[in-house]
Amino acid sequence: MEDNLSLYNTLTKKVEKFVPNEPGKVKMYTCGPTVYHYAHIGNLRTYMMEDVLEKFLRFSGYDVKRVMNITDVGHLSSDADTGEDKMLKGAKREHKTVMEIAKYYTDAFMSDCAKLNIKTPDVVEPATNCIAEFIHMIEVLLEKDYAYMAGGNIYFDTAKLKEYYVLSNQNAEELAVGVRDSVEEDTNKRNKTDFVLWFTKSKFEDQELKWDSPWGVGYPGWHIECSAISMKHLGDALDIHCGGIDNVFPHHTNEIAQSESYLGHKWCNYWFHVLHLNDSTGKMSKSKGEFLTVSLLESKGYNPLAYRMFCLQSHYRKPLVFSYEALDNVTVAYNKLVARVAALKSDGPVDEAKLAELKAAFMEALNNDINTSSALTVLYDALKADTNDATKRAAVAMFDEVLSLGLLDAADRMKEEKQTDAGAEMDGALLDFINQKISERMDAKKAKDFAKADAIRDELLAKGIAIKDTREGTVWEKV
Ligand code: AMP
Ligand code: ZN
Repeated sequence: MEDNLSLYNTLTKKVEKFVPNEPGKVKMYTCGPTVYHYAHIGNLRTYMMEDVLEKFLRFSGYDVKRVMNITDVGHLSSDADTGEDKMLKGAKREHKTVMEIAKYYTDAFMSDCAKLNIKTPDVVEPATNCIAEFIHMIEVLLEKDYAYMAGGNIYFDTAKLKEYYVLSNQNAEELAVGVRDSVEEDTNKRNKTDFVLWFTKSKFEDQELKWDSPWGVGYPGWHIECSAISMKHLGDALDIHCGGIDNVFPHHTNEIAQSESYLGHKWCNYWFHVLHLNDSTGKMSKSKGEFLTVSLLESKGYNPLAYRMFCLQSHYRKPLVFSYEALDNVTVAYNKLVARVAALKSDGPVDEAKLAELKAAFMEALNNDINTSSALTVLYDALKADTNDATKRAAVAMFDEVLSLGLLDAADRMKEEKQTDAGAEMDGALLDFINQKISERMDAKKAKDFAKADAIRDELLAKGIAIKDTREGTVWEKV
């Protein structure tokens, strides 16, 4: 197969031709959620655009293996290893154990993904399943002298690297400003950018999850999780690593540092980052104002798939501002689109040549750095195309393998609802007819026109309605 996809690579800061390590096969890793709270719709924008990338790779013929972690330990409230453990914070907030919180929010995340038609990755691995792998990797980093122990914790020594800022545009001075601003500073670190691989001296006496390790009872740092889980399932050469833009530094920068030091060679070729969804006040956050979740949108009557369409209308490398007004507009557009699909008739064979032409246009849009808004334009073009309805319907079905807007299902539901409504209208009309005829028959009987009364009885019977005179009046039933 041919490699036709061009993808922006955060590592090279360029749109590049995507060529996997092994022809036709893609190894893809996604940073998963920290399961201490519901995902907000910003987090889900990232998962949705990663889902489009994965589905488009499959659509293009690649054999994809995608792995995602679930962070259920080690992620502190600041990505720079300071603050409280997010999981512990969640457990305290809800008076539950950390594992109860992890289970509840992992399920909630999966359910949100299902509502947004986000496919579950081939492997979903909680960090707490992989403690042995983290310990092994840290042991090797210590042996190779890339790590050191200080104050009971194990740190990665960023000064040992030739180039630490390969991924981010940051430099040491910029970072130093940020560090000065921060209230907490870990005095055990040799360099400000060093990060924790293993904590034994927990600042939190009530840290629930702890494991034995060669360095004492403790728990892993957040960054080591993704490197070790990726290598466990995808080996030592990764094609694409995904995440939200905030993951570039320090998380992904640290992942590269420890993975390549451990392996002794380059680890991942393409880095795919999704820009943030913001609200009118700025970055979306779980601690700020109305916490925007899929359930909240549903409670306000929105279809989660209209939110999916809202995200697809923008390029993943542009920040996106959420507003209810924008979502209202997309909802109208989504419903109109469904209505247009519902109106397509089954009118004969699919024009295969035309379908191939539409497919080529669709692929061209997505091959251009996953341009989902152009792909939507191709979808609209297909509905306007000079071809029969069967071909249009086949194009919609094909494009929706990647876009996952649930268009055919929604269109079929719309048609069914229309039929039920039409059925209800018919029943209403029939009821009026029956009542009218019964009253005419009463009048005929009063006027002793029995021939007319019998004719009305027969007329109703012909429509499947049998009438019977009782002491309470005339009753009827369907026969
Ligand atoms: P977390 O559960 O906090 O680890 O974040 C899950 C994913 O969502 C990560 O890939 C983040 O980079 C991403 N993310 C965080 N905030 C946003 C946002 N406002 N918009 C889009 N993605 C985000
Ligand atoms: Zn990660």
